[in-house]
Amino acid sequence: MLNMDTFDFKGKKALVRVDLNVPLDAQGNVTDDNRTRAIVPTVKKILGDGGSAILMSHLGRPKGKVVPAMSLKPVAAHLEGLLGVPVLFATDCVGPDAQQKAAALKPGQVLVLENLRFHPEEEAGDEAFSKALAALGDVYVNDAFGTAHRAHASTTIVARSFPTAKLFGYLIENELKSVGKVLGDPQRPLCAIVGGAKVSSKIEVLENLLGKCDEVIIGGGMAFTFIKAQGGKVGASLVEDDHIGTAQAILQAAMDKGVQLHLPTDAVVADAFAANASTDLCPANAIPDGWMGLDIGPATIKTFGDAIKRSRTILWNGPMGVFEMPAFQKGTIAIANAVADATAYGAFSLVGGGDSVAAVNQFKLADKISYVSTGGGAMLEYLEGKVLPGIAAVQE
Ligand code: AMP
Repeated sequence: MLNMDTFDFKGKKALVRVDLNVPLDAQGNVTDDNRTRAIVPTVKKILGDGGSAILMSHLGRPKGKVVPAMSLKPVAAHLEGLLGVPVLFATDCVGPDAQQKAAALKPGQVLVLENLRFHPEEEAGDEAFSKALAALGDVYVNDAFGTAHRAHASTTIVARSFPTAKLFGYLIENELKSVGKVLGDPQRPLCAIVGGAKVSSKIEVLENLLGKCDEVIIGGGMAFTFIKAQGGKVGASLVEDDHIGTAQAILQAAMDKGVQLHLPTDAVVADAFAANASTDLCPANAIPDGWMGLDIGPATIKTFGDAIKRSRTILWNGPMGVFEMPAFQKGTIAIANAVADATAYGAFSLVGGGDSVAAVNQFKLADKISYVSTGGGAMLEYLEGKVLPGIAAVQE
C-alpha cells in the first residue's frame, strides 16, 4: 500500500476527499474549525512535494439539491487562512467549471470543489459521477474518516478509478493507527468505557469489545437497562425494556469470557429530565418511583476511576450522564480526568464514536488524551468490528 510519507506528489494533481462538514453561522463564518485544521497536514504534504490539491467534501444534508446556505465557498475562504496559500473555488464539483479549474491548477495550488451532496449521485454511489470526479485528478487520497463508513461516490466508488494510485491521508492513517493500538494488539489491561443513552445503539460495540477487553465499564443511560436486567429498581430512568434480554446475554458473555464488567452502584437522580430538577443521590439499583438516574454517583466514580487507572489501554465511547446539563456532568468530567491521568502515566487512550468526543472537548481535556477520533459513526462501526467501505476501497 502507498502511504503519505513515502508517496511523492511532485507534478501530481491529488483528488482529496476531506471532511469540510463544519458548522457555519448566518454570516458563513466557520464556528468550529477542528475538521478544517485536521486536513492541513495532508494538504501541506501534497503542496510541499510540488503537487496540487483538489479538495472535495460534503457540507450538511442538501439531499441532492443546490442549497446556497450549504455552499463550501466560505469554508474555502477559511482554509485559505489556515493554509496560507490562495484557495480557488469551483462552483460545482463536476462539469465545465471544475474541469477547467482543475486542468489549469499549478503545483502548489489548492482548488475546493462545491458541495458533493448537491448531486444525488454522490450518496447513491453513482459510477458515472465518480468517474467525472476521478477525471479531475491523477491520484486519489481519502482523508475523510467521518464518512469512511459510507459507500458514496467520493468516499468509496471513486477509488476504483485509481487502482494503483490511491492512499489514505494523514488523518485516516492516524485514526487507523490509533484504533489498531486498541483493537489490534493492545497493551494490557485493556479497558473499554461505554456510555451514552441507549443500549440498542451499542450492542454490537459491546459484543465486539467483550472478546478483546479485560475490563468493561458501562455508564450513562444505557446502564439502567443492565441494572434492571439484574433485578434492580431503576425508577423512571431511561430503560429499553425490549433489550433486557440483550443486556442479560451481554452480562453472561462477560462472565463466560472472564471480563470484569463494572456497572454503576450509585446514581445522581432527578425528579425530572431538566437542568433545574431536584436532585438526590441513591443506590443505582434502588431508585425511587418517579426519579431518574442522570449521572453516576461518587462511589461509582471511584470504582470506575480505579479500573481506568490500572489500565494500559483505554477506549472511551459515550458519556456517563447527561453531561449537557451542569447538574449531571460530574461523572463524565471525573471519568475524563481519570482517562487523562492514566494517559499521563503512560496508558494509551482513544476517545471516539459519540458524545464523549464532545465531552472531552467541552471540558478542554482533548490534549490530555492520546487520540480523539474525528469520526463519530465511522468510529462506532469500526468498534463494532465492521469493514468500512471507504477504508476497504483504498486497501483493496
Ligand atoms: P450517545 O450518542 O449514545 O453517546 O448518547 C449520548 C447522550 O446520552 C447524551 O446526550 C447524554 O445526555 C445522554 N445520556 C447519558 N446518560 C444519560 C442518562 N442517565 N439518562 C438519559 N440520557 C443520558
